[in-house]
Amino acid sequence: MTEPSKSGIDRKLNQNDLIVITGAGGFIAGALVRYFHDLGYTRIRAIDRKPLPQWFQRISGVECLTMDLGEKENAIRAVEGAAEVYNLAADMGGMGFIEHFRVECLRSILINTHLIEAAWRAGAQRYFYASTACVYNTELQKDPKVRALKESDAYPAMSERGYGWEKLISEMFCQEYWAERGLETHIARFHNVYGPHGTWFGGREKVPAAICRKVIEAKDTGKHEIEIWGDGTRTRSFCFIDDCVLGIDMITHCDKLIATPINLGSHELISINDLVSLVEDIGGVKLARRYNLEAPQGVAGRNSDNTFIKSVLNWEPSTPLRIGMVKTYNWIEQQYHDRKAGKWVVRD
Ligand code: NAD
Repeated sequence: MTEPSKSGIDRKLNQNDLIVITGAGGFIAGALVRYFHDLGYTRIRAIDRKPLPQWFQRISGVECLTMDLGEKENAIRAVEGAAEVYNLAADMGGMGFIEHFRVECLRSILINTHLIEAAWRAGAQRYFYASTACVYNTELQKDPKVRALKESDAYPAMSERGYGWEKLISEMFCQEYWAERGLETHIARFHNVYGPHGTWFGGREKVPAAICRKVIEAKDTGKHEIEIWGDGTRTRSFCFIDDCVLGIDMITHCDKLIATPINLGSHELISINDLVSLVEDIGGVKLARRYNLEAPQGVAGRNSDNTFIKSVLNWEPSTPLRIGMVKTYNWIEQQYHDRKAGKWVVRD
């Protein structure tokens, strides 16, 4: 088998085997399409329900389809001839979205349910599923000085309502399609992925992008204050997009990780207050802080225990937060000014 590779990952994949990536109009899947394209894979099918002009990234030579994968017929069409399927399509966003739109989050169950069945029937070799740290038991996340979450902490289950439960049951689908039907599945639990080419305004953006936008806005308008959701003491870790796509590739092509959920996140924990200070520093500004205690905030603390990924892959996401945030800030700043000038920018 030929392998267009720079990283030494044994993909057991031919250069012209068909790779299907869903949610490709969005942030992470868009980056994954670019990653495989840049590695030299020649047949990539990218799918999203958004109209093409709204996709965050478009790469020439990639087959782009607009379809709603919550419909069974579309899922069947999507995976025709696929060697590998990467399912990253989901109706989701930051805390503001997942706390207010639980029904939308839950309805993403239709996507994975149809897609995994179709992939199995189509004889796909491998199926990747994008899960989340929101599957973890919320009882374990009540302290900002949280113990990092290890894979077994998902059970006994008490996931984030809506979004987390949908992901947990979809993980189970992946595990049972392997156990009962022999479809090779791989599952990564992402922890707060950030970077360029993601949503940065409109209501679905996550905290790193939201803070960058607010700082840029404050600088631009001269109104030197910032609204922070919560009291700023909540803690999180953030995984840079380049680490995330490399991790997806490594996890999907590791035989030891078949049907075995694994954390894909950074273990660099930071409070929201310190993240604001970091972005202020990058932007070269100091802002008055206004805390909105009524806003959605999520669990008190969440971090990724990377013991398992280090033991299996001898690797973990390691881009320092400052380096990733500088790239993210610069990209959003450019988008901000383009938007002001009436140019097209990334949004949902
Ligand atoms: P995103 O919103 O940028 O991308 C998701 C894409 O899925 C969107 O473009 C959306 O239009 C598409 N989609 C939604 N419903 C669809 C449907 N019925 N048919 C076809 N396409 C549909 O989100 P993202 O940040 O790129 O997340 C990708 C995946 O990773 C999701 O499954 C998400 O739950 C998971 N995840 C992301 C993070 C994170 O920090 N970004 C954390 C944990 C898990």
